Amino acid sequence: MDILTNCLGAQEKQMKSMLQGKRPVICPKCKSEKTAPILYGLPADEMLEASKRGEIIFGGCAVTDDMPQPDYGCTECGFRWSDELLPATHITKVRYKVVENGPCPLEFMRTWVYEIKQDGSCTKYQYQGRGGRYQSREIKKVSGWRVYRLARSLQKIIGAPLWESNIIDGRVCDGFRYNLQISYTDNRKLILEGDVSGGTFDSILDRFVRNVFD
Ligand SMILES: [Zn+2]
Repeated sequence: MDILTNCLGAQEKQMKSMLQGKRPVICPKCKSEKTAPILYGLPADEMLEASKRGEIIFGGCAVTDDMPQPDYGCTECGFRWSDELLPATHITKVRYKVVENGPCPLEFMRTWVYEIKQDGSCTKYQYQGRGGRYQSREIKKVSGWRVYRLARSLQKIIGAPLWESNIIDGRVCDGFRYNLQISYTDNRKLILEGDVSGGTFDSILDRFVRNVFD
């Protein structure tokens, strides 16, 4: 029973950070839509039925809590993956949003959104207040290689086991928070959030966007 609880715990953590959009999850290897989430732990009876229908794949019970492991599988070609473990070439888009926390009034609060695509196109949007329309937009083009290097440095931290990932939580909080969305070739997104405070992810992204736009 302990094993089962552990397994479910590990699954829950993964799902919190993944966003699945309206598009079906496709296999990063063969592009098939016949994919299913991998379930770790001891399967219940109704799960066996779901597995026969191809809605679920059993992953067994060898779960190490701190290690990224496959959370999706392809019933067509048998490939199993998790976005954390894919090579950086599978990152299609990085969206880095920085929001000012205050102390200014809401209508003056600024938001910046940076969209960085695999082909090297980078767009910066600036918003003010709560309106949905951006105030300014700037488009830059960099080499695909430069985006790949960014993707590689992000993926290196994301895919590392916890004890190796060396994530720094920044110390100086200057009133900005970020939301980082990383899109992958399987149509899923990994979402990371935190304060802009010299931590690992915000430092990498801040350096990149400063180089491109300033
Ligand atoms: Zn496949």
